Order: sequence, then structure tokens, then C-alpha cells
Amino acid sequence: QDEHFKKVIAHAKEYGYIFPSSEIYDGLSAIYDYAQNGVELKKNIREYWWKAMVQMHENIVGIDAAIFMHPTTWKASGHVDAFNDPLIDNKDSKKRYRADVLVEDYVAKIEAKIEKEVAKAQKRFGDAFDKEQFLATNGRVIEYQEKAATILKRLGKSLENEDLADVKALIEELEITDPETGSKNWTDVKQFNLMFGTKLGASADSAMDLYLRPETAQGIFVNFLNVQKTGRMKIPFGIAQTGKAFRNEIVARQFIFRQREFEQMEMQFFVRPGEQKKWYETWKENRLKWHLSLGMGEENYRFHDHEKLAHYADAATDIEFRFPFGFKELEGIHSRTDFDLGNHEKYSGKKLQYFDPELNESYVPYVVETSIGLDRMFLAVFSNALQDEELENGTTRTVLKIPAVLAPTKAAILPLVKKDGLPEVARKIVDELKWDFMVQYDDKDAVGRRYRRQDAAGTPFCITVDHQTLEDDTVTIRHRDTMEQQRVPVSELRNIIFRETDM
Ligand code: ATP
Repeated sequence: QDEHFKKVIAHAKEYGYIFPSSEIYDGLSAIYDYAQNGVELKKNIREYWWKAMVQMHENIVGIDAAIFMHPTTWKASGHVDAFNDPLIDNKDSKKRYRADVLVEDYVAKIEAKIEKEVAKAQKRFGDAFDKEQFLATNGRVIEYQEKAATILKRLGKSLENEDLADVKALIEELEITDPETGSKNWTDVKQFNLMFGTKLGASADSAMDLYLRPETAQGIFVNFLNVQKTGRMKIPFGIAQTGKAFRNEIVARQFIFRQREFEQMEMQFFVRPGEQKKWYETWKENRLKWHLSLGMGEENYRFHDHEKLAHYADAATDIEFRFPFGFKELEGIHSRTDFDLGNHEKYSGKKLQYFDPELNESYVPYVVETSIGLDRMFLAVFSNALQDEELENGTTRTVLKIPAVLAPTKAAILPLVKKDGLPEVARKIVDELKWDFMVQYDDKDAVGRRYRRQDAAGTPFCITVDHQTLEDDTVTIRHRDTMEQQRVPVSELRNIIFRETDM
């Protein structure tokens, strides 16, 4: 697994997807730049989300709010007081960790043991193996499950009650060690605020302390009435937004999974008070369907309902994805009650109520939100796509099976040889297709090597121009995933690529 993750990081760099930020200065921890292919993949994921959320829903509209917001926003939202991570230092190594993550990693190890038992039993019983039944009846597995659940429950409770002494006690009882040095010599747990501060204005005395937004959601809450009125929106309706968010993450590892600057894709759905549970369930289901529509394997997703609720929520779940380092949160679905709008009313002194013509009354709406990290989605797609495939002839090929709709380059146009007029015909095809798709012309190296290069870069189609093309205007189109080739008329190319890559 570690091996695969290392490959993912190396491949992302080698094929122009992701570079460490300011690399010539040895980089900046947990900050990354998206390269020529990465920017396309990222844009395509954003668009795929936007189409599903905004374009396909009559009652959802988008906005693009500023990153800087009035500082009182973050007082009202609770981020100044409650957007903290519990930190713990190891006295020997002087390394700093997130206390909750240490415990969660411990639980992940128990879960890995369960998976191992399952795999063992599966091997032993073959087709007759019933996983559900095994999980429900195997003594050792039940013990593991109970242990994991007890630990998570206690962690949730103590975080909820701000009982940091108990978080430390839990770490000591479980004999959790410093992952790097094995030391068990821990300090107390303290809270650490995750917001980045900055200043607005030039002179020292008139400067205003600002924060870089730690989530995009607040830009939607403060604009709620503006959008509702100007868009004549009727509840239930949603506002969607994609954009950068910033968090001073302490445990910033795992590549682009946890960054200090990242992008969120959020949708806040405004509903009648009392109807939030129904909409919460609806959005849980909708969002999972969206993920499954990409065909990255149903077995790679699971819901994880929260025991420990954030300061604003009355129900919350994560859609977890099987990343190279195990199942981790990819998207959150939260029932945020009227917490945010209610507090913005209080702090701003402005009414943020909706007049419901059917009920003939005004109220502060409840909110159900879906919040997904664009970079995390990128990592999910990219790590799932990267495969080393054994071929029939005994060789292996590296292939990046990115869903065609998300692929940065949809087709590469390759003249078989660099003479006899083939490059000119290939260029002409590029010029026709580029109006609709990202395409690439490539004439370097033997055609087999070019195929492999495009496989590794994630290009779903290679179109080869050969001598027969000069006679009958047909080309071969090779499919990345199956490596099958078909002969098709040049005039059909646009339709074929559209069929396979349209959002
Ligand atoms: P985690 O528990 O992993 O820190 P979170 O529960 O704090 O995440 P939310 O506040 O619910 O995350 O944010 C919504 C989404 O934003 C997450 O599901 C995740 O995809 C993304 N996200 C949050 N923090 C980061 C980060 N530091 N880097 C990249 N993506 C992030």
C-alpha cells in the first residue's frame, strides 16, 4: 500500500499532474501546485460536480464569494472560538501530532486486522464465504469491532465535552507511541486554532485583522438573502460554490489529502425547520450516486456516521473512500440546523429570514450541506486510476485509467511515421477536434512507445493516421483501457469521442 502511494506521488510529478510548491526552494510543506495535466483534471472534476449540482437542479444556483470576509463572520460562525484541533507533543522527539488522529490511526490498525481476518477466511472458504455473516459471528472479529467502536465513542465524547485530559488518558491507556520514534512520553493535549490570520490596510493603526476563510460555506450564508431575493428562490433551494479554503493544519502529510491551501466544492441547501432529516437522507443518497457514476468501484466507498459532531451540526456523515492509505473522509454531509444563519442574525443585527408563502410565516431556514474537497477528489481519482497491468505477452504497462469524462487530454493524434504527408493529415484532425476537446499531437518515438506514454498520462483515445488514411479517410482509434483498436472514418471521430467523454 505504501508502495502504491509512493508511486502515485512520483507519477503525479513525472506526468505533469502535481508539483511541490516552490520546488526550487525545496518546497513548502503541505502546499502543492497543479501542473499542466493536473489543472485539466481538477477543472474537469469541478465541472462534473457543478453540472450535477447546479446545471441539473432547477432550485440550486451558484455563487463565487470572496476569500476575505468581514472578521465578525468568523466570530458568528464559531470558528474563532471552536475551530480547533487537539494537539499533543511528544516530549522526547519534540514532534507534534493531532491527538484525535493518533487515536484514529490506532483504530485504523484494528480495522486492518479485521480486513485481514476477512481476507483469510475468504481464501479458506472460497465461493461459499459470506462476509456479512462472518463479521456478525466470528468471535475474534466481533472483539475487534467492539474495541474499535468503544475507542471511537470515547474519543467522540471527550472531544465533544472538551475533556482534553481524557483524550490524553485514552492515548496513554492504549499505549499509543510516537509513530516515528516509538516514545510514549506525551505532553498534555491543547487546542490549536486552524485559521490563518492576515491584515487588511497599510498603516499599522488602521489595519484590520482578517482571516483567510477556512471553509467556503460562510460566503454562502452571508449571501443567503441576496440570492434568495434576486433569484426569487423558494425553499427548499440550494446555493453552490467552489473555491479555495485555508487551514493551518498541523498534521499535514499524505500528499494532497491534507493541505494548508485547498479547494472545496460546497452546496448549502436551505429547508424548512423540521425537514432537515429528510433532506439530509436525500443528499446522502444523491452524493453517493454522484460518486458511483464515475465507475470507480462501489466497494471503495462507505459512509461513516459521526459520533462526534462539529459545533454547528445535528447530524453528520462522511463519504469515505479507499485511499492508498486506507478508508478516509472524501466528502462530508452535514445537517447544520439554523446555527449559522441564526448567529449571523445575532452578530449582524440583520434579519436573515425567509417568508414561506405556503405556511404564511417567516423563519430562519435550516441547512443541509454537502462539502467535498476538490483536491481529495483528485487524489481519489488519480490513485484509483494508476495501475500496473500485466499483459499477455509477459510485459507490464503503467496505465492511468482516469474516467474518460475527467481525463485531461481526451485524444492523442499520432501520425504512424513522420513522412509521406501523414503529419499533415494528423494536424488537420487536431485542428478539427480541438474546438470540442483537449487533444494533443504527438509524433515523437515509435507508435508503440507513444501509446504507452499516453496510457500513463491517462489519455483515453489514441488516433493513428497511417497510409490507408490517405486512401480512404479512415484512422485507427485505440482504447486506453482495453487496448483494442478499431478502424473508423475520420468524420466519425467527433461523435465517438463525445459519446465516451461527455459530462
Ligand atoms: P478532516 O477530518 O479530514 O480534517 P474535516 O472534517 O475537517 O476533514 P470538513 O470541514 O468537513 O473537513 O471539510 C469538508 C471537506 O473539505 C472534507 O471532506 C475534505 O474533502 C476537504 N478538506 C478539509 N480539510 C482539508 C485539507 N486540509 N486539505 C484538503 N482537503 C480538505
